[in-house]
Amino acid sequence: MTAKPATDRVRLRRLHERGSYDRGTINAVLDAGCLGHVGYVSGGSPVVIPTLYWRDGDNIYWHGSSASRMLRGAEGTEVCLTVTHLDGFVMARSGFHHSANFRSAMIFGTPHKLNGDAEKLKQLELFMEAVFPGRWSQLRPTTAQELKATTILAMPIDEASAKIRTGPPGDDEEDYALPVWAGVLPVSVNYGRPEPCTRFAGTAEPPIVSLGLRTTN
Ligand SMILES: Cc1cc2nc3c(=O)[nH]c(=O)nc-3n(C[C@H](O)[C@H](O)[C@H](O)COP(=O)(O)OP(=O)(O)OC[C@H]3O[C@@H](n4cnc5c(N)ncnc54)[C@H](O)[C@@H]3O)c2cc1C
Repeated sequence: MTAKPATDRVRLRRLHERGSYDRGTINAVLDAGCLGHVGYVSGGSPVVIPTLYWRDGDNIYWHGSSASRMLRGAEGTEVCLTVTHLDGFVMARSGFHHSANFRSAMIFGTPHKLNGDAEKLKQLELFMEAVFPGRWSQLRPTTAQELKATTILAMPIDEASAKIRTGPPGDDEEDYALPVWAGVLPVSVNYGRPEPCTRFAGTAEPPIVSLGLRTTN
């Protein structure tokens, strides 16, 4: 366990030795992906919505249509954003000790909406460049109308935790002699072969996508 929890609600109780409050560790989990789940309470009911996200310094961002119920519902209210990477299935000699290898992060906070056009454009560029380095400058510039139709929420990464499991199964001592296969079945996210749009009008190579490279860091 490194660093101290910012608040009691991010203090890991269950298997706390797998947890970390170290910002570098949390950032590494966030930067290794772009898919998260935002949980909040809407009209008294819990809602958990998947969304793409990105990080810039001490803030995490997500975006969507200005008409999005999620973005309007989450702004100014308490949310919990969770990011998960499943790295492997841990297969033990008993059902009870099966597990998963993973990296996950949870961030609690109250997001706010970005208002200035310059700030919104800067963040959209950072998002695009995080996933597809070098792509933003190739694209048609964003119009004022598109910018207006896009809401971006920002939330400080102040109250956060990471939890990481690695390694083989931990079986009961007497079970190690059993002949049943045990070990880790690695799981990873890979990109497939790019499929050009049927109306693709250029000759350029498909972009290099960064996330696959980042997950191996
Ligand atoms: C891919 C994956 C699969 C999992 N499968 C299972 C499963 O099948 N069964 C199961 O019981 N648990 C599973 N977990 C672990 C689960 O996420 C919880 O950590 C665990 O259930 C303990 O929950 P709790 O509410 O008792 O945690 P507590 O320790 O009481 O949580 C307190 C605080 O610790 C932090 N915290 C807790 N869990 C995490 C986490 N995963 N990542 C970052 N911060 C965290 C949060 O800030 C939370 O508010 C899985 C996790 C991942 C990533």
